[in-house]
Parts: sequence; structure tokens; C-alpha cells
Amino acid sequence: RVFVIGSFVIACSVKVARLPQAGESLGGSAFLAEPGGKGFNLALAAHRLGLDVDGIFSVGEDVFSPVVRSTFARVGFSTDMLVPHAGSTGAGVAFIDPTGENCLAVCLGANLALTAEDVLDFAPRLQGSDLVAATFESPDAPIREAFALSRARGIRTLLNPSPVRALDPAILADTTILVLNAVEAAELGLGHPDRIAEARSATPAIAALLDGGLELLVVTLGVRGAVAFRPGSPPLRQPAFAVAAVDTVGAGDAFAAGLIAGLLDGRPLESVLTQAAACGALATCRFGALDAFPSARALEAFLEE
Ligand code: ADP
Repeated sequence: RVFVIGSFVIACSVKVARLPQAGESLGGSAFLAEPGGKGFNLALAAHRLGLDVDGIFSVGEDVFSPVVRSTFARVGFSTDMLVPHAGSTGAGVAFIDPTGENCLAVCLGANLALTAEDVLDFAPRLQGSDLVAATFESPDAPIREAFALSRARGIRTLLNPSPVRALDPAILADTTILVLNAVEAAELGLGHPDRIAEARSATPAIAALLDGGLELLVVTLGVRGAVAFRPGSPPLRQPAFAVAAVDTVGAGDAFAAGLIAGLLDGRPLESVLTQAAACGALATCRFGALDAFPSARALEAFLEE
């Protein structure tokens, strides 16, 4: 079972003929409101792959509360993963023009109200899982608590530091698996994407992280695939699958879910990475993220092709 320190965002988008200007009120041709958030996407992608998923998600007490509950029920998640907090549910608004150009703003709202105490309330459930995963759409304090609880029981922890911010040393000390994209790796000073893509050995910053106790560090590079670093082994390269990508939103979440599923299966890293890349590729073949995450059966069929 995987336990996700979750985040939840209602992503609203309006299709417009051109992006609006300050002070302007523009008519849109279509409106879409989709559940998302990195934590939710990761949880959902893992669930689609057949993993038993539990977690904790902070949501507001607003017009979206019933929507969150019905969404969880619809995708097959228990609503006992939800923790209500005062304020607004995480939400974002985007304008998209016919060329695909967009401008957007996201307010994480209640996601930022998740506390270490909330996590402590879930300690028995969290400590009954095989892997605990978190993204940076949650604040440091609850992640720190969750990873400390995990470490105390020898449970593996996976951190996807997205959207990127400085790594809290206490979180890092209790992280066993770090998965991040090239932009995040560069922001965290782990090395230029080209250097990582062609690495024959870990960059000094990556080597330092591995010496600090990380079991596995994976940098995803979009169409260039991914590179995995482990202590004492040369980097392992995983090419991306050639697919007709239409929308790369959710690729990273699907990749991480595939990685988790493979690791929990106890498979060799080569096969785990292949499966993760297949999940990432499949997620790019459909619009949006929600319907794009592959099922275990779709993944198997894709890998057999
Ligand atoms: P993020 O979505 O977090 O920015 P990436 O863009 O690096 O992450 O994508 C994660 C993984 O998904 C990649 O390592 C790759 O395996 C797969 N992937 C992403 N984009 C494509 C694509 N256009 N074609 C095939 N696979 C892709």
C-alpha cells in the first residue's frame, strides 16, 4: 500500500479567442473544471495501476467541498482521506487561446493549511503502508512529520519536490527516493539537464545526496527519458518511448506512480524504470491528466507491443 501526503486542486480553464488584458471582460467559448493537484494525480495514477492507495488531503470548507467528496467517491477513493480546513479548497484558473498559449494562477489554499498534527492523526494508517509519497504542493511541516514517522518504521519515502523550493534538510534526511524533472534538478543545483542526460557518473551535488542516504534519485528529462542514480552504481539511463504525445500534463505524476508500483513489486531497477517511462508516455497520449493515467492492463498491453 502507498500513502500519499496529498494535495488537491480544482483546475478551471476558459477557452478564449485571445488572452484577456487588464480590465477586460472577455467571453469564453468553453469552460472546464477538472480535479487535479500533484498529490491527487500521483494517488490516482497509482490507484489506476492497481495499488492500494491511502493518504491525507486538506480541503477547504467552500463551494468546492461537495465536489471534492464526489470526485473522491467517483475515482474510487475513500473520503476518509479528507481533512477539512477553514478557507478555500486549492483551485486554479487558466485562460487558453487557440494556439494553446495560456496564462494561469493557482491558489493552493487549504493544501497549505495541512499540519504535522493532521499527519499524526493518520499515523497508524501511514505506518501501515509500504511507501509514503509527498510533493511540494504540501508544506514542509507535514512532510517532515510523515517522513519521520516512516523512517521510524523503516518505510520507504518518495519525494517529488514540485513545485520546486529549497529542500528542508530534515525532510531530505528521511527521504529514500527523490524523483524530479530536469528543471527542478537544475533549480536545486543538481546539474544542467544536458550534463545529467549524458552523465557517466553522478554530478557532485547528486553524489552528495547519495552519500547522505538517498537510495535512489531519478531525474526525468521529458522526451529525453530519465536517468537514475544509485549509490555505488553508474547512472542508469531510460529512454522515453516514442508516442504521439498530445498533452504532457501529468507525465511526471504517471512516471512516479509507475516507479512506485515497480519498486513495491520488488522488480530490478531496469524494469521499474521501463515501466515508469511507459506510464509517463501513456499519460501524454490523451488530453488532461485524469483520464490519461494508464490502468495496469493498458500498461501491460503497451509493454507487450
Ligand atoms: P514532468 O511532467 O514532471 O515535467 P517529464 O516531462 O520529465 O516530467 O516527464 C516524465 C516522464 O514521462 C519522462 O521521463 C518520460 O519517460 C515520459 N514522457 C514525458 N513526455 C514524453 C513524451 N513527449 N513522449 C514520451 N514520453 C514522455
